[in-house]
Amino acid sequence: MASGTSRAIAYLDNAASTPLCPAAAEAMAPLHRELYANPTGAHRMARDTRRRIDDARDVMAEALGSEPGEVVFTGGGTEGDNMAVVGRHMRVGGVTVCSAIEHHAVLAPVEHLGGRVVAVDAAGVVDLDALAAALDDGVTVVSVMLANNETGIVQPLEQVAAAVRSGAPQAVLHTDAVQAFPWLDVASLAACADLISVSAHKFGGPKGVGALVVRGGVELSPLMLGGGQERDLRPGTHNAAGIAGMAAAAEVVLKSRAEQALRLGGLRDRLADGVLAAVAGTVETGERSGKVAGSAHLCFEGIESEALLFLLEDAGVYASAASSCSSGAQDPSHVLAAMGYDRMLAGGSLRLSLGYETTDADIDRALAVIPDAVSRLRDYRTG
Ligand code: PLP
Repeated sequence: MASGTSRAIAYLDNAASTPLCPAAAEAMAPLHRELYANPTGAHRMARDTRRRIDDARDVMAEALGSEPGEVVFTGGGTEGDNMAVVGRHMRVGGVTVCSAIEHHAVLAPVEHLGGRVVAVDAAGVVDLDALAAALDDGVTVVSVMLANNETGIVQPLEQVAAAVRSGAPQAVLHTDAVQAFPWLDVASLAACADLISVSAHKFGGPKGVGALVVRGGVELSPLMLGGGQERDLRPGTHNAAGIAGMAAAAEVVLKSRAEQALRLGGLRDRLADGVLAAVAGTVETGERSGKVAGSAHLCFEGIESEALLFLLEDAGVYASAASSCSSGAQDPSHVLAAMGYDRMLAGGSLRLSLGYETTDADIDRALAVIPDAVSRLRDYRTG
Protein backbone atom coordinates (compact mmCIF):
# COMPACT_ATOMS: atom_id res chain seq x y z
CA MET A 1 0.00 0.00 0.00
CA ALA A 2 1.40 3.39 -0.91
CA SER A 3 2.29 5.72 1.93
CA GLY A 4 3.37 8.85 0.10
CA THR A 5 0.72 10.86 1.94
CA SER A 6 0.11 11.20 5.66
CA ARG A 7 -1.67 7.80 5.86
CA ALA A 8 -1.58 4.60 3.88
CA ILE A 9 -3.66 4.64 0.75
CA ALA A 10 -4.53 2.20 -1.98
CA TYR A 11 -3.21 4.02 -5.04
CA LEU A 12 -5.14 2.70 -8.04
CA ASP A 13 -4.42 5.53 -10.45
CA ASN A 14 -1.27 4.25 -12.14
CA ALA A 15 -2.58 5.08 -15.62
CA ALA A 16 -2.39 8.71 -14.51
CA SER A 17 1.11 8.39 -13.08
CA THR A 18 3.34 5.90 -11.31
CA PRO A 19 5.77 6.25 -8.42
CA LEU A 20 9.41 6.61 -9.43
CA CYS A 21 11.03 3.18 -9.24
CA PRO A 22 14.21 2.85 -7.14
CA ALA A 23 16.38 2.04 -10.16
CA ALA A 24 15.27 5.27 -11.86
CA ALA A 25 15.98 7.35 -8.76
CA GLU A 26 19.43 5.77 -8.50
CA ALA A 27 20.24 6.42 -12.14
CA MET A 28 19.15 10.05 -11.89
CA ALA A 29 21.00 11.06 -8.72
CA PRO A 30 24.54 11.41 -10.17
CA LEU A 31 23.24 13.47 -13.08
CA HIS A 32 22.00 16.11 -10.68
CA ARG A 33 25.10 16.38 -8.51
CA GLU A 34 28.16 15.00 -10.33
CA LEU A 35 27.45 14.96 -14.04
CA TYR A 36 25.63 18.24 -14.32
CA ALA A 37 27.46 19.51 -17.41
CA ASN A 38 25.64 20.43 -20.56
CA PRO A 39 25.99 17.26 -22.62
CA THR A 40 26.79 19.20 -25.79
CA GLY A 41 30.00 20.55 -24.23
CA ALA A 42 33.54 19.44 -25.05
CA HIS A 43 35.09 18.73 -21.63
CA ARG A 44 35.23 15.46 -19.77
CA MET A 45 32.14 16.02 -17.62
CA ALA A 46 30.13 16.92 -20.69
CA ARG A 47 31.37 13.82 -22.47
CA ASP A 48 30.51 11.64 -19.48
CA THR A 49 27.03 13.13 -19.31
CA ARG A 50 26.61 12.57 -23.03
CA ARG A 51 27.64 8.95 -22.56
CA ARG A 52 24.75 8.46 -20.11
CA ILE A 53 22.37 9.83 -22.72
CA ASP A 54 23.83 7.56 -25.37
CA ASP A 55 23.45 4.56 -23.05
CA ALA A 56 19.85 5.55 -22.37
CA ARG A 57 19.25 5.82 -26.10
CA ASP A 58 20.46 2.25 -26.58
CA VAL A 59 18.08 1.02 -23.87
CA MET A 60 15.10 2.89 -25.27
CA ALA A 61 15.89 1.65 -28.77
CA GLU A 62 15.85 -1.94 -27.55
CA ALA A 63 12.65 -1.33 -25.59
CA LEU A 64 10.91 0.22 -28.58
CA GLY A 65 12.32 -1.99 -31.33
CA SER A 66 14.19 0.75 -33.15
CA GLU A 67 17.72 1.79 -33.99
CA PRO A 68 19.33 4.05 -31.39
CA GLY A 69 19.53 6.82 -33.99
CA GLU A 70 15.76 6.68 -34.40
CA VAL A 71 15.04 7.59 -30.74
CA VAL A 72 14.22 11.25 -30.10
CA PHE A 73 14.05 12.26 -26.44
CA THR A 74 11.04 14.44 -25.69
CA GLY A 75 9.42 16.23 -22.80
CA GLY A 76 6.82 13.45 -22.37
CA GLY A 77 3.88 11.81 -24.09
CA THR A 78 2.05 14.98 -25.04
CA GLU A 79 5.09 16.38 -26.78
CA GLY A 80 5.82 13.14 -28.63
CA ASP A 81 2.21 12.91 -29.80
CA ASN A 82 2.22 16.53 -30.97
CA MET A 83 5.55 16.09 -32.72
CA ALA A 84 4.18 13.14 -34.63
CA VAL A 85 0.96 14.77 -35.79
CA VAL A 86 1.82 18.47 -35.98
CA GLY A 87 5.45 17.91 -36.96
CA ARG A 88 4.37 15.70 -39.83
CA HIS A 89 1.75 18.19 -40.97
CA MET A 90 4.18 21.11 -40.76
CA ARG A 91 6.64 19.22 -42.94
CA VAL A 92 4.45 17.74 -45.67
CA GLY A 93 0.98 19.25 -45.21
CA GLY A 94 -1.91 17.00 -46.11
CA VAL A 95 -4.67 15.46 -44.05
CA THR A 96 -4.23 14.10 -40.51
CA VAL A 97 -6.32 11.16 -39.28
CA CYS A 98 -6.79 9.61 -35.84
CA SER A 99 -9.24 7.42 -33.95
CA ALA A 100 -11.99 8.93 -31.82
CA ILE A 101 -10.55 7.44 -28.62
CA GLU A 102 -7.09 9.00 -28.84
CA HIS A 103 -5.68 10.91 -25.91
CA HIS A 104 -6.23 14.65 -26.28
CA ALA A 105 -2.51 14.98 -27.06
CA VAL A 106 -3.37 13.44 -30.45
CA LEU A 107 -7.05 14.30 -30.81
CA ALA A 108 -6.67 18.03 -30.17
CA PRO A 109 -3.91 18.53 -32.79
CA VAL A 110 -5.84 16.47 -35.36
CA GLU A 111 -9.00 18.48 -34.73
CA HIS A 112 -7.03 21.73 -34.75
CA LEU A 113 -5.58 20.82 -38.15
CA GLY A 114 -9.04 20.02 -39.51
CA GLY A 115 -8.23 16.30 -39.74
CA ARG A 116 -10.50 13.25 -39.82
CA VAL A 117 -11.58 11.39 -36.71
CA VAL A 118 -12.42 7.72 -37.17
CA ALA A 119 -15.15 5.95 -35.20
CA VAL A 120 -14.64 2.99 -32.85
CA ASP A 121 -17.09 0.15 -32.27
CA ALA A 122 -19.07 -0.50 -29.09
CA ALA A 123 -16.16 -2.56 -27.73
CA GLY A 124 -13.84 0.44 -28.01
CA VAL A 125 -11.85 -0.93 -30.95
CA VAL A 126 -11.13 1.24 -33.99
CA ASP A 127 -13.58 0.54 -36.81
CA LEU A 128 -11.39 -0.68 -39.66
CA ASP A 129 -14.04 -0.01 -42.32
CA ALA A 130 -14.43 3.57 -41.11
CA LEU A 131 -10.66 3.89 -41.12
CA ALA A 132 -10.42 2.63 -44.70
CA ALA A 133 -13.10 5.14 -45.71
CA ALA A 134 -11.09 8.00 -44.15
CA LEU A 135 -7.91 7.18 -46.07
CA ASP A 136 -6.80 8.49 -49.46
CA ASP A 137 -3.74 9.88 -51.24
CA GLY A 138 -3.99 13.18 -49.38
CA VAL A 139 -3.56 11.66 -45.93
CA THR A 140 -0.03 12.14 -44.55
CA VAL A 141 -0.28 10.90 -40.96
CA VAL A 142 -2.55 8.41 -39.20
CA SER A 143 -2.44 8.08 -35.43
CA VAL A 144 -3.97 5.11 -33.59
CA MET A 145 -2.96 4.34 -30.03
CA LEU A 146 -1.76 0.91 -28.93
CA ALA A 147 -3.75 0.85 -25.67
CA ASN A 148 -6.38 3.30 -24.50
CA ASN A 149 -5.75 5.32 -21.37
CA GLU A 150 -9.30 5.12 -20.03
CA THR A 151 -10.46 1.62 -20.84
CA GLY A 152 -7.11 -0.12 -21.35
CA ILE A 153 -8.41 -1.60 -24.61
CA VAL A 154 -5.67 -2.67 -27.02
CA GLN A 155 -6.01 -1.65 -30.65
CA PRO A 156 -5.31 -3.89 -33.67
CA LEU A 157 -2.27 -1.98 -34.86
CA GLU A 158 -1.13 -4.47 -37.50
CA GLN A 159 -4.51 -4.28 -39.20
CA VAL A 160 -4.45 -0.51 -38.93
CA ALA A 161 -1.00 -0.48 -40.54
CA ALA A 162 -2.18 -2.70 -43.38
CA ALA A 163 -5.13 -0.36 -44.02
CA VAL A 164 -2.84 2.68 -43.98
CA ARG A 165 -0.28 1.14 -46.35
CA SER A 166 -2.94 0.29 -48.90
CA GLY A 167 -5.33 3.23 -48.47
CA ALA A 168 -2.94 6.14 -47.81
CA PRO A 169 0.43 5.48 -49.42
CA GLN A 170 1.77 8.96 -48.47
CA ALA A 171 0.92 8.48 -44.81
CA VAL A 172 3.10 7.53 -41.90
CA LEU A 173 1.58 5.61 -38.99
CA HIS A 174 2.01 6.97 -35.48
CA THR A 175 1.08 5.02 -32.40
CA ASP A 176 0.77 6.47 -28.92
CA ALA A 177 2.19 3.61 -26.86
CA VAL A 178 2.15 5.57 -23.59
CA GLN A 179 -0.30 3.24 -21.84
CA ALA A 180 0.83 0.09 -23.59
CA PHE A 181 4.48 0.22 -22.61
CA PRO A 182 4.18 -0.99 -19.00
CA TRP A 183 2.22 -4.04 -20.14
CA LEU A 184 2.90 -5.00 -23.73
CA ASP A 185 5.90 -5.79 -25.89
CA VAL A 186 5.82 -2.51 -27.75
CA ALA A 187 8.96 -3.39 -29.72
CA SER A 188 7.12 -6.13 -31.57
CA LEU A 189 3.52 -4.84 -31.47
CA ALA A 190 4.51 -1.44 -32.84
CA ALA A 191 7.06 -2.75 -35.33
CA CYS A 192 4.57 -1.77 -38.03
CA ALA A 193 4.51 1.90 -36.93
CA ASP A 194 6.72 4.70 -38.26
CA LEU A 195 6.40 6.84 -35.16
CA ILE A 196 6.00 5.59 -31.55
CA SER A 197 5.60 7.77 -28.47
CA VAL A 198 6.06 6.79 -24.82
CA SER A 199 6.17 8.69 -21.54
CA ALA A 200 8.46 7.78 -18.62
CA HIS A 201 6.11 8.60 -15.74
CA LYS A 202 3.67 5.91 -16.82
CA PHE A 203 6.22 3.16 -16.18
CA GLY A 204 8.18 4.10 -13.07
CA GLY A 205 10.28 6.88 -14.62
CA PRO A 206 10.20 10.61 -13.90
CA LYS A 207 7.64 13.09 -15.20
CA GLY A 208 8.34 15.44 -18.09
CA VAL A 209 10.41 13.06 -20.21
CA GLY A 210 9.56 10.62 -22.95
CA ALA A 211 10.70 9.28 -26.28
CA LEU A 212 9.46 9.38 -29.84
CA VAL A 213 10.73 6.81 -32.29
CA VAL A 214 11.09 8.43 -35.71
CA ARG A 215 12.01 5.71 -38.17
CA GLY A 216 14.65 6.45 -40.76
CA GLY A 217 13.28 8.31 -43.77
CA VAL A 218 10.19 9.68 -42.00
CA GLU A 219 9.95 13.38 -42.77
CA LEU A 220 9.04 15.49 -39.74
CA SER A 221 9.49 19.13 -38.71
CA PRO A 222 10.56 20.11 -35.20
CA LEU A 223 7.95 21.89 -33.09
CA MET A 224 10.58 24.24 -31.71
CA LEU A 225 13.58 25.92 -33.26
CA GLY A 226 16.90 26.30 -31.51
CA GLY A 227 20.01 24.16 -31.10
CA GLY A 228 20.59 21.04 -33.14
CA GLN A 229 19.91 18.48 -30.44
CA GLU A 230 18.15 15.22 -31.24
CA ARG A 231 18.88 15.31 -34.96
CA ASP A 232 17.46 18.85 -35.14
CA LEU A 233 14.07 17.49 -34.12
CA ARG A 234 14.04 18.50 -30.47
CA PRO A 235 16.23 21.47 -29.63
CA GLY A 236 17.05 22.38 -26.04
CA THR A 237 19.51 21.14 -23.44
CA HIS A 238 18.87 17.48 -22.72
CA ASN A 239 17.08 16.51 -19.54
CA ALA A 240 19.96 14.15 -18.85
CA ALA A 241 18.76 12.99 -15.43
CA GLY A 242 15.23 12.41 -16.69
CA ILE A 243 16.48 10.52 -19.72
CA ALA A 244 18.71 8.28 -17.57
CA GLY A 245 15.81 7.72 -15.17
CA MET A 246 13.48 6.78 -17.99
CA ALA A 247 15.98 4.27 -19.39
CA ALA A 248 16.53 2.70 -15.97
CA ALA A 249 12.76 2.34 -15.53
CA ALA A 250 12.46 0.87 -19.02
CA GLU A 251 15.11 -1.72 -18.18
CA VAL A 252 13.08 -2.75 -15.15
CA VAL A 253 9.98 -3.00 -17.34
CA LEU A 254 11.79 -5.16 -19.89
CA LYS A 255 12.96 -7.54 -17.16
CA SER A 256 9.73 -7.76 -15.19
CA ARG A 257 6.91 -6.93 -17.62
CA ALA A 258 5.67 -10.46 -18.25
CA GLU A 259 5.75 -11.41 -14.59
CA GLN A 260 4.10 -8.15 -13.46
CA ALA A 261 1.41 -8.45 -16.12
CA LEU A 262 0.59 -11.92 -14.82
CA ARG A 263 0.56 -10.85 -11.16
CA LEU A 264 -1.32 -7.62 -11.71
CA GLY A 265 -3.69 -9.15 -14.24
CA GLY A 266 -4.72 -11.59 -11.48
CA LEU A 267 -5.24 -8.74 -9.01
CA ARG A 268 -7.16 -6.75 -11.61
CA ASP A 269 -9.46 -9.72 -12.26
CA ARG A 270 -10.07 -10.17 -8.54
CA LEU A 271 -10.89 -6.48 -8.23
CA ALA A 272 -13.18 -6.26 -11.25
CA ASP A 273 -14.94 -9.57 -10.51
CA GLY A 274 -15.35 -8.61 -6.87
CA VAL A 275 -16.96 -5.28 -7.69
CA LEU A 276 -19.18 -6.77 -10.40
CA ALA A 277 -20.40 -9.44 -7.97
CA ALA A 278 -21.00 -6.99 -5.14
CA VAL A 279 -22.61 -4.09 -7.00
CA ALA A 280 -25.70 -4.66 -9.15
CA GLY A 281 -26.09 -2.31 -12.10
CA THR A 282 -22.37 -2.29 -12.92
CA VAL A 283 -21.14 -2.48 -16.50
CA GLU A 284 -17.58 -3.44 -17.33
CA THR A 285 -16.38 -1.34 -20.22
CA GLY A 286 -15.18 -3.42 -23.17
CA GLU A 287 -13.84 -6.97 -23.26
CA ARG A 288 -11.48 -7.68 -20.40
CA SER A 289 -9.43 -10.07 -22.50
CA GLY A 290 -8.70 -7.21 -24.90
CA LYS A 291 -7.29 -4.89 -22.24
CA VAL A 292 -3.88 -4.30 -20.76
CA ALA A 293 -3.43 -6.27 -17.53
CA GLY A 294 -3.46 -3.36 -15.09
CA SER A 295 -6.69 -1.77 -16.16
CA ALA A 296 -10.21 -2.16 -14.76
CA HIS A 297 -12.88 0.17 -16.05
CA LEU A 298 -16.42 0.05 -14.72
CA CYS A 299 -19.58 2.14 -15.06
CA PHE A 300 -22.12 2.27 -12.25
CA GLU A 301 -25.73 3.06 -13.01
CA GLY A 302 -27.32 5.87 -11.05
CA ILE A 303 -24.28 7.63 -9.59
CA GLU A 304 -21.81 10.32 -10.55
CA SER A 305 -18.10 9.61 -10.68
CA GLU A 306 -17.13 12.82 -9.01
CA ALA A 307 -19.05 11.98 -5.84
CA LEU A 308 -17.78 8.40 -5.93
CA LEU A 309 -14.16 9.51 -6.21
CA PHE A 310 -14.69 11.78 -3.24
CA LEU A 311 -16.01 8.93 -1.07
CA LEU A 312 -13.24 6.62 -2.24
CA GLU A 313 -10.58 9.15 -1.42
CA ASP A 314 -12.08 9.58 2.00
CA ALA A 315 -11.75 5.85 2.54
CA GLY A 316 -8.15 5.79 1.29
CA VAL A 317 -8.66 4.61 -2.29
CA TYR A 318 -7.26 6.82 -5.05
CA ALA A 319 -8.69 6.25 -8.52
CA SER A 320 -10.05 8.32 -11.38
CA ALA A 321 -12.99 8.54 -13.74
CA ALA A 322 -11.93 9.42 -17.25
CA SER A 323 -8.37 10.37 -18.08
CA SER A 324 -6.78 12.65 -15.55
CA CYS A 325 -4.56 14.69 -17.75
CA SER A 326 -6.56 17.88 -17.66
CA SER A 327 -7.30 20.32 -14.93
CA GLY A 328 -8.90 17.73 -12.70
CA ALA A 329 -12.36 18.68 -13.89
CA GLN A 330 -14.54 15.70 -14.69
CA ASP A 331 -15.41 16.29 -18.32
CA PRO A 332 -17.66 13.71 -19.95
CA SER A 333 -15.45 11.03 -21.44
CA HIS A 334 -14.99 11.32 -25.21
CA VAL A 335 -13.88 7.68 -25.17
CA LEU A 336 -17.10 6.38 -23.65
CA ALA A 337 -19.13 8.68 -25.91
CA ALA A 338 -17.33 7.24 -28.94
CA MET A 339 -18.19 3.73 -27.72
CA GLY A 340 -21.86 4.72 -27.64
CA TYR A 341 -22.34 4.91 -23.87
CA ASP A 342 -25.15 7.21 -22.88
CA ARG A 343 -24.19 10.17 -20.73
CA MET A 344 -25.89 8.83 -17.62
CA LEU A 345 -23.95 5.57 -17.57
CA ALA A 346 -20.71 7.21 -18.71
CA GLY A 347 -21.19 9.74 -15.90
CA GLY A 348 -20.75 6.94 -13.37
CA SER A 349 -17.44 5.60 -14.68
CA LEU A 350 -14.52 4.49 -12.56
CA ARG A 351 -10.99 3.72 -13.76
CA LEU A 352 -8.94 1.56 -11.42
CA SER A 353 -5.41 1.22 -12.74
CA LEU A 354 -2.83 -0.99 -11.09
CA GLY A 355 0.93 -0.60 -11.12
CA TYR A 356 4.09 -2.35 -10.01
CA GLU A 357 3.61 -1.27 -6.38
CA THR A 358 0.01 -2.50 -6.18
CA THR A 359 -0.48 -5.21 -3.55
CA ASP A 360 -3.17 -7.68 -2.47
CA ALA A 361 -3.92 -5.34 0.41
CA ASP A 362 -4.74 -2.52 -2.03
CA ILE A 363 -7.28 -4.74 -3.74
CA ASP A 364 -8.74 -5.82 -0.38
CA ARG A 365 -9.19 -2.23 0.60
CA ALA A 366 -10.78 -1.27 -2.73
CA LEU A 367 -13.18 -4.22 -2.50
CA ALA A 368 -14.10 -3.26 1.04
CA VAL A 369 -14.78 0.34 0.09
CA ILE A 370 -16.23 0.56 -3.44
CA PRO A 371 -19.52 -1.40 -3.01
CA ASP A 372 -20.36 0.54 0.11
CA ALA A 373 -19.57 3.89 -1.52
CA VAL A 374 -21.74 3.12 -4.56
CA SER A 375 -24.65 1.99 -2.44
CA ARG A 376 -24.40 5.07 -0.21
CA LEU A 377 -24.58 7.30 -3.28
CA ARG A 378 -27.53 5.39 -4.68
CA ASP A 379 -29.36 5.52 -1.35
CA TYR A 380 -28.72 9.23 -1.19
CA ARG A 381 -30.21 9.72 -4.66
CA THR A 382 -33.30 7.63 -4.06
CA GLY A 383 -33.77 8.50 -0.40
N1 PLP B 1 -1.03 9.56 -24.27
C1 PLP B 1 -1.68 8.78 -23.41
C2 PLP B 1 -2.36 7.55 -23.91
C3 PLP B 1 -1.72 9.11 -22.05
O1 PLP B 1 -2.37 8.32 -21.19
C4 PLP B 1 -1.06 10.29 -21.61
C5 PLP B 1 -1.15 10.72 -20.20
O2 PLP B 1 -2.08 10.40 -19.50
C6 PLP B 1 -0.38 11.06 -22.56
C7 PLP B 1 -0.38 10.68 -23.87
C8 PLP B 1 0.34 12.30 -22.16
O3 PLP B 1 1.59 11.98 -21.58
P1 PLP B 1 2.36 13.05 -20.69
O4 PLP B 1 1.64 13.10 -19.38
O5 PLP B 1 3.74 12.48 -20.55
O6 PLP B 1 2.36 14.33 -21.41
